[in-house]
Amino acid sequence: MPMSKEERRRHDAEYHREARKRPEVKEREKLAHLKYRATHYEECLERDREYYRKHRKECISRTREYYRKNPDRYKEQTKLRMRKCRLDPMVKAKEKVKAKEYYYKNRDKMLDYRKIYCTNNKDKVNKLHREYMTNKKEMRFAINQANYYYPIISNCEVCGSEHRLQHHHENYAEPLNVITVCQQCHTGLTVNSINV
Ligand SMILES: [Zn+2]
Repeated sequence: MPMSKEERRRHDAEYHREARKRPEVKEREKLAHLKYRATHYEECLERDREYYRKHRKECISRTREYYRKNPDRYKEQTKLRMRKCRLDPMVKAKEKVKAKEYYYKNRDKMLDYRKIYCTNNKDKVNKLHREYMTNKKEMRFAINQANYYYPIISNCEVCGSEHRLQHHHENYAEPLNVITVCQQCHTGLTVNSINV
C-alpha cells in the first residue's frame, strides 16, 4: 500500500534524523556548514548579531551554564584571551605599571614569599643565577673592579642606612664610576623610582 503524503513526510524526517546520528554524516554536515559560513561570512555574522540582540539574556546564561559545566574549557579560553591581550603593547605597559604598584604595596608579603620560594628551590635559583651571571661579563667585571678599588666602608648615599650596602653603577662601561647605596635604595635606583 503506498504511503500518504503526510506519512511520507514523517518517514523522511525520521530517516534524516536517524542519519544525522551516524558519525560520517555528522562530519559531512559539519563540513558543509563550515563551508557555507566561509562563503557567506558577512551574512552569517549579521544573522548571529541579530539573534544575539533578540536573545541576549538567554545567550549569556547559556554561555555561563556551559562554562560552569566545563571548567577546564573556561580556563583554556581565558588563558587564550589573556595571551592575545598581552600582545598589545598598551596592555603590556599597563600590566607592568600595575605589577610595580602591587609590588610596592605588598612588598613585605612578596619578599617573604620569595624567601620561601628560594629556600625551597635552592638548586633551581642557583642555576638561574649562574646562567644570568655568565651572560653578564661586563657587569661582573665592573662589580669586581669597584669592589677592589673602592671597598665599601661608608653609609648609603641616598638614605644613610648601614645595612646591606652595595655599589651602584650608572653604566657598566665605567666600572669605577660608582656610588654606595643600601639594597633597598639600589632597587629603587634600578627601577628609576628614586632620582638622586
Ligand atoms: Zn639607602
